[in-house]
Amino acid sequence: MKKKLNKGQEKFLLSLFGPQDVLFQREELLIYGTDASKEFAWPYAVVRPSKVEQIVELLKWADREGVPIIPRARATNVVGACVPVHGGIIVSTLKLNRILDIDEVDFVAEVEPGVVTAHLQQEVRKKGLFYPPDPASVNISTIGGNISQNAGGLSAVKYGVTKDYVLGMDVVLAGGRILSLGGRIRKDVVGLDLKSLMVGSEGTLGFFTHFTLKLLPLPESSVSILVGFPSLDELVFNAIALLKKGLIPSAMEFMDSGVIKCIKEIYPLDVSSKVDSLLLLKFDGNKRDIKYCVNELDKIFNDSSAIFWEKGVDPEKENELWEVRRMINPASHRLGDNKIALDICVPRSKIPYIVRVSKQIGEKYSVIVLCFGHLGDGNIHVNIMYSGGENQIGAIEVKKEILRHTIQVGGTISGEHGVGILKMDFMETQVGVHAKKIMKKIKKIFDPNNIMNPGKAY
Ligand SMILES: Cc1cc2nc3c(=O)[nH]c(=O)nc-3n(C[C@H](O)[C@H](O)[C@H](O)COP(=O)(O)OP(=O)(O)OC[C@H]3O[C@@H](n4cnc5c(N)ncnc54)[C@H](O)[C@@H]3O)c2cc1C
Repeated sequence: MKKKLNKGQEKFLLSLFGPQDVLFQREELLIYGTDASKEFAWPYAVVRPSKVEQIVELLKWADREGVPIIPRARATNVVGACVPVHGGIIVSTLKLNRILDIDEVDFVAEVEPGVVTAHLQQEVRKKGLFYPPDPASVNISTIGGNISQNAGGLSAVKYGVTKDYVLGMDVVLAGGRILSLGGRIRKDVVGLDLKSLMVGSEGTLGFFTHFTLKLLPLPESSVSILVGFPSLDELVFNAIALLKKGLIPSAMEFMDSGVIKCIKEIYPLDVSSKVDSLLLLKFDGNKRDIKYCVNELDKIFNDSSAIFWEKGVDPEKENELWEVRRMINPASHRLGDNKIALDICVPRSKIPYIVRVSKQIGEKYSVIVLCFGHLGDGNIHVNIMYSGGENQIGAIEVKKEILRHTIQVGGTISGEHGVGILKMDFMETQVGVHAKKIMKKIKKIFDPNNIMNPGKAY
């Protein structure tokens, strides 16, 4: 590791944060060089602010000194978004983890960035309120990380993604100026929407220190249904029919034949060999709506090619049905020591095509490809399984071809995980040279000396 801070710079950090909240030792820095992507680069130091004033002073100093700043929350992003590829100082949000207010009249929460998302959900639930964004990492990721990646989850089909819940935010910019955007207001059309620009910016535009989040009333009841179809085309056709009827699920997941096969190897999933694809639905709302929904679904599936459908009307049975979905990750690891996990998003009509093509590409390179995910949003998790070096080279080729096909059908290379460093190669192919240049120019306005998370996203 090349050490990049001089004695004077180290002294500055120690005086601003105190010795307990600055790390310089190699063994302490090791873990901060990586994230869930498993990519790695050495940082110069780690700091753990507990006050906004410290961040303001740090960003004034870093801008002057030209030292990169990498905001880091729980590091669960899978694209290398907080790997310090240009060195620099990792700024942890773990001590900025207070829920400041939950307002039952305005239906808002005021929070610091390091609050773990599931913790906020539990606290608002106690007041009969609901914060819907639910990435699978909800128990281990933070509001700040979710906003920086615009995280989505199962409930996006009905409730939207993280950006739909950000009403206001404070951002410390490179140079130390604080920008306050939005607030407890649900509508605001004054000027350009800078708040939306910040959401999904992967730490490249500023350091977020405070959020005002929109809350909803907590749904009273729910029902889940697992349905087996003879083909993915049939599954998508019936799913669209259901949406057209105005039955909007709060989760609409699908699993392809490869996924069913591998789950069966570790879990007693008792479905006939005629079942090629599974649809897993959840509906929430008041009890009367749920009753209506169950009746309508029975009618739809009775008239469809569905091979079976199984309902969960009580929490225990619902949980049992969702266990099938939770089995995908552990089951998939039997097919390879490693995987490349894509989170492409395509128009819903293109789902059967892109799944078919992805599997064909996998076969060409002798690599197993599993497809499942958020059918309602067209957001498909494509898991490219591999073990060993040669297999890895094939898996990388599979990834490239699938991403190319995704862009060709009008899709995106990332529906929820972001770009980080791992998908930068495909950024320009998707958005075009001109859009990428504009993004770089926008960054220059907020961060003229390129100190905020340099080398990421665009
Ligand atoms: C098991 C697992 C399941 C997952 N499931 C999903 C899923 O269903 N949906 C989904 O969308 N993602 C998912 N992810 C990815 C990941 O959890 C999300 O990207 C999450 O939003 C990252 O949150 P974090 O707190 O870990 O942030 P980090 O990974 O620490 O940081 C992410 C980015 O945010 C920036 N950042 C963090 N805090 C700030 C701040 N205060 N100011 C400015 N920038 C900041 C960082 O610089 C970095 O660029 C999953 C990951 C894992 C490991």
